[in-house]
Amino acid sequence: MYCNHRNKSISGLQTGPFSPERRTGNAFGRPWFDRPGTVRNACKSRSLLFVLLCCCFLQGYASQPTAVRGVLDLRNTDLSKNVVALDGEWRWYWHQLRKPEQPDAGFEFIRFPQLWNAATWQRQPISAQGYATYSLTVLLPAHSVGLALEVPDQYSTYRLFVNGKVFAQDGTPATTLAETQPHWSTQLVELPATGDTLQLLMQLANFHHAKGGTAQAMRLGERTRLAAVLTMDHALDLFLTGCLFMSGLFFLGLFGFSRTDRAILYYGLFCLIYCYRIVGTHPYVLHTILPDLSWQLTVRFEYLSLYLGVAIFVVYTHTLYPQDTNRKISAVMTWLCVGFAGTVLLLPTVLFTKFMNLFLALMVSYIGYAFYVYWLAAKRHRPGARYSQMSTALLMVVFGLIILQYFGVAMPAKAILFIGYLGFFFLQSLVLAYRFAFALSEARHTEKQFLANMSHEIRTPLNAIIGFSNLLDTAALTGQQQEFVRYIHTAGKNLLTIVNDILDIAKIEAGKLPLEIIPFSIQSLSDSIRTMLLPTAVDKDLQLVVDVDPTLPPVLLGDPTRLTQILLNLLSNAIKFTKQGRVSLRIDQRDVSNGFVRVRFVVQDTGIGIDPGVLPYIFERFRQASDSTTRFYGGTGLGLSIVKSLVELQGGWIRVSSVPGEGSCFTLEIPYEIGKGESDQAATKSLASWKSTGQTLRILVVEDNPMNQKLALSVLSRLGHSAQVAENGEQALEWLQRSTFDLILMDIQMPVMDGYTTTRHIRTTLRKKTPIIAMTAHALASEREQCLQAGMNDFLSKPFLPNDLQQLIRKYVPSGPELEVVAEPERIPVADAASFTMEPLLKVVEGDLFLATQLLELFLSQTIEQLQQIRQVMAVNELNVISQVLHSQKASIKMLGLDKASLQLEEIEALIGAKAAPTLIVARVQTYTLTLEAELPRIESVMLSAVQKLPSA
Ligand code: ADP
Repeated sequence: MYCNHRNKSISGLQTGPFSPERRTGNAFGRPWFDRPGTVRNACKSRSLLFVLLCCCFLQGYASQPTAVRGVLDLRNTDLSKNVVALDGEWRWYWHQLRKPEQPDAGFEFIRFPQLWNAATWQRQPISAQGYATYSLTVLLPAHSVGLALEVPDQYSTYRLFVNGKVFAQDGTPATTLAETQPHWSTQLVELPATGDTLQLLMQLANFHHAKGGTAQAMRLGERTRLAAVLTMDHALDLFLTGCLFMSGLFFLGLFGFSRTDRAILYYGLFCLIYCYRIVGTHPYVLHTILPDLSWQLTVRFEYLSLYLGVAIFVVYTHTLYPQDTNRKISAVMTWLCVGFAGTVLLLPTVLFTKFMNLFLALMVSYIGYAFYVYWLAAKRHRPGARYSQMSTALLMVVFGLIILQYFGVAMPAKAILFIGYLGFFFLQSLVLAYRFAFALSEARHTEKQFLANMSHEIRTPLNAIIGFSNLLDTAALTGQQQEFVRYIHTAGKNLLTIVNDILDIAKIEAGKLPLEIIPFSIQSLSDSIRTMLLPTAVDKDLQLVVDVDPTLPPVLLGDPTRLTQILLNLLSNAIKFTKQGRVSLRIDQRDVSNGFVRVRFVVQDTGIGIDPGVLPYIFERFRQASDSTTRFYGGTGLGLSIVKSLVELQGGWIRVSSVPGEGSCFTLEIPYEIGKGESDQAATKSLASWKSTGQTLRILVVEDNPMNQKLALSVLSRLGHSAQVAENGEQALEWLQRSTFDLILMDIQMPVMDGYTTTRHIRTTLRKKTPIIAMTAHALASEREQCLQAGMNDFLSKPFLPNDLQQLIRKYVPSGPELEVVAEPERIPVADAASFTMEPLLKVVEGDLFLATQLLELFLSQTIEQLQQIRQVMAVNELNVISQVLHSQKASIKMLGLDKASLQLEEIEALIGAKAAPTLIVARVQTYTLTLEAELPRIESVMLSAVQKLPSA
């Protein structure tokens, strides 16, 4: 067996005292054997639990003959089928090392096997150290051939004579300490083929161990059968040793490379230490392989490996679940183990072997405690604790069986113990593997979280850099300065693309990239993509062709934002890597079934193509066709990886084919559910038909700035629509709950509830699919992207021109009314010195002089008030308030064409975005207020002169 109970150190537990039942030949209490047909008498009177356990784990049992008064009668036993343990009453000669030919002298009968520690000679207890001779006559069935005897290790050396000749010897038994040489091994000896009687004589001596006498039964049976069983035992031991040794090395290596979890280190050491016990304890495979190993050395290794193994297991358990383990118990147990190990190193064998039973009791208690710790850990959902619990439960079963064996109640089948040990070590390995994987995924999660946060944080200053370079570009610069500014601008934009890509990847990997399922029209989506890319294609003198299958369902259910991202990426690449020729996007309908359609998108170009060696890996991250790609074309190699993930997230696939020098072709297919109602983007059909009845559209304008409100209302009424104003998101939600609108114009920055939040509420809480157009003062791509992600359909830069608004409305309501052609606005003369002119405003209001004067009046009153407010908060550096007020002025100032103030305002916003020093910001705000104030008298005079020109009401 693998554990200490079977090794000499504690084997006294195996047989127990010589009980009265035993004297009378009742085999109760003696060990059973695991080989077929060798099991002794059934345990008749032990508890039901024992019987059940025995039935489950032990081989069948049958009544077997035992030796009575020195004779074992096997004449009626079929030895070809049974292996018989030579248990029972042997003749015993205490303090005599007899030879076979010596005449019989005083002897007593003694149970075999039995320790001297529990025996008496002439009714007096005897010492465990001494020497004796045992003899037994075995009556064999007639013509028995091919028999063998399995002789296990005894305490602590023996010589066995069979029919007068030495047949087996383990060490050297003698009458003095100096002459005796202990040794332990299991031997198989072939018996002579002559005669039907065996005269067994065993000389036994012990001066070196705390226990003396016989510990294990000898077994008689057919040689081939015994040899097969012993070979199997050795094979299982060697196999388990190999497994543990390799596991130990593996976990040590893993710890060496990862240095993350000390539990891995302790478990590796535990495996290595414990693997010694498998071969270094009964049946001592190691001693069979290396018979010359010194007993003094191996017995110390045997005990040390147990003490240190348990110590390491204690530390391991503590490291696994420090919060669930009592530090004191762990420390006491570890030091006790170390103390026991110390006795092995410092004391002679005869002394330190005394402590084994004490240690065993300690160890069993600790295993119980470890089970409690694992149970607690599992209850608290610690990683892998379930496996730990299962493994200790298994260990407890194994030890339970072993304890049954100690008390001679049962002999568990070796295979059961083997499976138990294997299961224990396997489950413990699983615990560590689980922890390792858990720690890895936690680390990955943290890394992704960090990436996502960093990308987000980097975007803010980056927008400021891009914003500033935009501003600089419009200033009067020398040629070289302009070139530098353009470099800054390009580098900033590239960096922003990379940061956005990384953010996308982090989101995809974290599974946090939500996919929308909303109605949309492929036709209008491809139109807007074409509009977006056309300028770049035209710049490069490339033909950009978008061809959409007219039979495609007009409304599909899916995520238009992600589809746009995919197609923009592929088409931008195609344009980027094509010097001449054309870039095309073809959208076809594939299978249509069960309300779903597979849509195929083919993006083809006549560009540089991709090298066949790189093609299979082109969708991998950071993969580019060649090292020079970044140098010549820029990029990071993240785009295609994101595209692939996005396509696959939507249940589709993507392929690429390419011929270097001729071009590339990316083909992808995505399944979409066919929409029955209106598409959010197109909202075409019903609205169009509804429109054709001549009714006007109801439009909700969500805007806090009164000037913008007025502008929107008047433009919309000119377009023939009725409009309702909501001053913030909350009001908008209230309106939407009360009535239905056909379109929503949504400001982004508003008090109470901003445009993004409002849109999300409209889409998720109210579940309304009404098209939403963002009105934004920023034209940054990131903000546009945010608008789309929040669920808006499009965006309009403020201040918007009526024509832009009308185009957008027509995009979503195709049969909307044509804007009546407006006559050229009348020019209002203004003084040459004045920076404000009426022209930009008239352009915005399409020449409506009345509306223009009204807007100017509003602007004047509003601005005077706001400038006062700015001055007040400037004194206390309230940057938040300043920023809000300035933001609300932005659109009006642009609308009035106050370019200088507008530039100053953008600069201030960029400074605030970049978290510049408050003193710097305040200084700029001061300049801005002065600029604006200087304009006010001019604006007023222009307004008054315009009022005079108005036809009197
Ligand atoms: P990036 O364009 O940022 O480098 P992508 O993942 O979008 O990253 O593309 C990876 C690489 O694939 C590109 O660097 C390029 O070498 C190659 N590639 C992608 N599309 C094309 C194309 N249409 N023609 C030629 N090469 C392409």
